[in-house]
Amino acid sequence: MTASDPVLTPVVGSLYALEVPIPYPMKTVTVLLDAPANGPVTMIDTALDTPEARAAIETGLGTLGLHWPDVERVIITHHHPDHYGLAGVVEERSGAAVQMLDVEIGRGERYWHLWEEWLPGHLKHMRDHGLPQASLDDMGADNRRSRDRVQPASRVSPLREGQHVTLAGREWEVLWLPGHADGHLGLWNAEDSVLIAGDAILPRISPNVGLYAYTRPDPLGDYLQTLGKLEALNPARAVVGHHGPVMTGVQARARELRAHHHERLDFIAAEAGREPRSAYDLSLAMFNRELNVSGRRFALAETLAHAEHLRLLGQLYRTWQEDDGVWLYHA
Ligand SMILES: [Zn+2]
Ligand SMILES: [Zn+2]
Repeated sequence: MTASDPVLTPVVGSLYALEVPIPYPMKTVTVLLDAPANGPVTMIDTALDTPEARAAIETGLGTLGLHWPDVERVIITHHHPDHYGLAGVVEERSGAAVQMLDVEIGRGERYWHLWEEWLPGHLKHMRDHGLPQASLDDMGADNRRSRDRVQPASRVSPLREGQHVTLAGREWEVLWLPGHADGHLGLWNAEDSVLIAGDAILPRISPNVGLYAYTRPDPLGDYLQTLGKLEALNPARAVVGHHGPVMTGVQARARELRAHHHERLDFIAAEAGREPRSAYDLSLAMFNRELNVSGRRFALAETLAHAEHLRLLGQLYRTWQEDDGVWLYHA
């Protein structure tokens, strides 16, 4: 690779970041490639399974003189389709070992295998929190589109918090950064002060923190703790999933995101304090703008994460309203 080559952004040593196109508003997702002199050829995150993403990754590999079969290890930051989509394809083409945090294997990763069985529960959860039937139908179809772009790996081996992995000839500590996903993984290299952060922190946009049918009970509580961890870690640079590939100022950004979530908590406490409201109703007030189907789903799940956080703190209550078949949050 030459200095004039714009495809890959150097991170540290033999580790490079590649921005791969995805058909989402963020436009690209970061895939990391490492081809060290000693040690396994590694890919971190795999993008969504689209022809454009496959071509971009092939170009990135080619720039390093590599092909699909050369990949020996795949590490996934979290199970979301834009990060996990091609894992099964890489596994099949190269026999690479696919690794994720143990927490994520039991939860998010299972979702792709049990998708058909879990979908009714997923939709019921949304309906119980007020999502109208028409949106539910669209949401089922939208979920199916995502499912079609994910090729899950047939075998995933667990990484554990505190364990070390070698990348670019350096030792990296495995971190658990829950909130955006239950088993979100980070990789931390203290010597160079570099964090591979996935979507645990992002510049420009606030990583979605949503409560779904199969997530841990308090994703926002988890995320506020993750922000605390990131503040304390204070990395000089972080490789991020979107709008990067590299960002600085992680500590300040973590503080900004914490303030943002506290503002939202105050807003929801005030809205639900005025009159009992469903989470869907609250989400219309909090995200008071045109949103497509997946935008509405994210808005509802995000609102719900805030409402439940307040409920678990004892600052809000919820009551099942039999007539409409919906949970209402109230003071
Ligand atoms: Zn994500
Ligand atoms: Zn993402």
